[in-house]
Amino acid sequence: MNTAPDKASAQLLGAALKRSLLAARGGLRAYVPRTSLAQTFVEPALDHLQKMKIPVLFDSPLVGIKGTIKADRLIFRNCSVELAPGDHVVLAAPPWAPVVKPFLPAEFTPAPSPIVNGHFLLPKEIKLPATGMTGLIGGRAHWIFTHSQMVSATVSADHELAQMNHSKIAEVLWRDIQKCFEWSEHPIPPHRIVVERRATPLQDADFGRLRPGTATSLSNVFLAGDWTDTSLPCTLESAVLSGFRAAQTAFNTA
Ligand SMILES: Cc1cc2nc3c(=O)[nH]c(=O)nc-3n(C[C@H](O)[C@H](O)[C@H](O)COP(=O)(O)OP(=O)(O)OC[C@H]3O[C@@H](n4cnc5c(N)ncnc54)[C@H](O)[C@@H]3O)c2cc1C
Repeated sequence: MNTAPDKASAQLLGAALKRSLLAARGGLRAYVPRTSLAQTFVEPALDHLQKMKIPVLFDSPLVGIKGTIKADRLIFRNCSVELAPGDHVVLAAPPWAPVVKPFLPAEFTPAPSPIVNGHFLLPKEIKLPATGMTGLIGGRAHWIFTHSQMVSATVSADHELAQMNHSKIAEVLWRDIQKCFEWSEHPIPPHRIVVERRATPLQDADFGRLRPGTATSLSNVFLAGDWTDTSLPCTLESAVLSGFRAAQTAFNTA
């Protein structure tokens, strides 16, 4: 949920539990990318788009959408694209992107919630534990992942930790890792801290109630993203589902 338990929407957590722990056999299966999420999702998607001869534009955010009943032009930072009459636009940017805001209900102003990650490069003499994924109870870190000679700790919705300087964060996380694997004799190894302040929206009951669907005030513009109304918490699964829904709605209105 990436939201503190006293704030998190029980309905959204319930929806996730129904599809996982309470689902028929096979509903709960943890997937951990072999190397990285980039290699698992992003690179194959880019390859596919390239094969389809669909250009991908980097470093040129969408800054405006022109049109009244229908969108007729997309304004990017470095260029603009005129839309053909049958074109559809799927807007898959986050809810706080200025270009998305005009399409949102005025009362829907989700607050961001952070995720902090610490990646530590282990010296050769440390033997990695057999398990690649460990959940912690009572630690500051929530999950510890190990692969190759790396150990990574993840902390969700810890607004206080996200404000600390990186060396302090590294100290806190390394202490949890040491305790978890009984590595107390090993000093903190080379590391990198990544603080994503807007990892997901804070998913409280208001968020669950107000998140918008895919249709917008422009008949050929559709919203997608984990934050749209998929009835699931903001996760990769919600993002994927929202994409299918936006595509389906676009086809239905074609
Ligand atoms: C550190 C971290 C760990 C996470 N761990 C998990 C996990 O273990 N499991 C899980 O299910 N989920 C996890 N999540 C959440 C998951 O990443 C999101 O649910 C998912 O990426 C949402 O996908 P999305 O397509 O809705 O949005 P995003 O992935 O945020 O994509 C939106 C894209 O829009 C782009 N953009 C923004 N503004 C503009 C603009 N004006 N024009 C064009 N493009 C724009 C952004 O650059 C971004 O690439 C994690 C998130 C973070 C940050």
